[in-house]
Amino acid sequence: DTGLEKTKDNFFSKITKVIAGKSTVDDDVLDELEEVLVTSDVGVKTTLKIIDRIQARVAQDKYVNTSELNKLLKDEIQQLLAENNSNDFVNFEYGSHKPYVIMVVGVNGVGKTTTIGKLANKLKEAGNKVVLGAADTFRAAAVAQIQLWGERIGVKVVAQAMGSDPASVAFDTLRSAVANGDDVVIIDTAGRLHNKVGLMNELTKIKNVMQKVVPGAPHEILLVLDASTGQNAIEQCKQFTEATDVNALALTKLDGTAKGGVVIGISDQFKIPVKYIGVGEGVNDLQLFDRQAFVDSLFK
Ligand code: GDP
Repeated sequence: DTGLEKTKDNFFSKITKVIAGKSTVDDDVLDELEEVLVTSDVGVKTTLKIIDRIQARVAQDKYVNTSELNKLLKDEIQQLLAENNSNDFVNFEYGSHKPYVIMVVGVNGVGKTTTIGKLANKLKEAGNKVVLGAADTFRAAAVAQIQLWGERIGVKVVAQAMGSDPASVAFDTLRSAVANGDDVVIIDTAGRLHNKVGLMNELTKIKNVMQKVVPGAPHEILLVLDASTGQNAIEQCKQFTEATDVNALALTKLDGTAKGGVVIGISDQFKIPVKYIGVGEGVNDLQLFDRQAFVDSLFK
């Protein structure tokens, strides 16, 4: 059980239909394949890129049996993912930065808090000392929810009253981390996208304050996106990458959706590594994104 069954079933059954009763990969097959990719939320641009590449290979070999289409497609997807996911993250250890500071961004409801809780737990299990900062001070529920996660997994949460300055919470959290010799800091932030300039200013302020305590922080600006929203996730990615220097992505709710193809499109369009995937609501339902495992699970 990889958590990607729905995407796989969708993908696989559609491709099986495309090649049913056909022996060679011809223009009709490619047209239908194009439709499969688009309706699997790979996105139009990325789909065209994949189709072009397959077309080139078919032209080169003159005759390609439909039974080889899966392999061709798998190769192309793997290559696309490889171009943008140079690191295969094998564990939850982050090397030389101490503390390693992760600032988490994303709109409400995408699974930000849940991802923070799961990630903190993984990091803790990997032997790291972790602290969380509740810098989404805009919603009372956000602070309460991250505190609940902290209790659940036994990780300290630094918080202030609702409505207080998010940058001040981030500052307190980093100071606490330095004083305690913590290994990883994860800072939650408010994801109010309706005002991009406001969002940009707020995130910049938080970053500036962090650098006063830990030069080079944040080391990771992690954007959380809900994969089940398909093309909306791509739009959010566009907005957030314009507002701040996102350098890692988490795609959540892949367990509940057939839209897992969006991982391929986002990776191709934004050239930002997909670092984590969420495959359920439970504490253990977070995986480091492994491009090989991902592609394998789509085709097996
Ligand atoms: P936030 O508003 O972005 O902080 O979102 P939450 O962390 O509160 O998550 C919103 C809802 O999505 C909650 O009910 C979570 O349990 C659920 N959720 C988060 N991640 C996943 C996931 O990977 N899979 C599933 N099925 N549900 C998830």
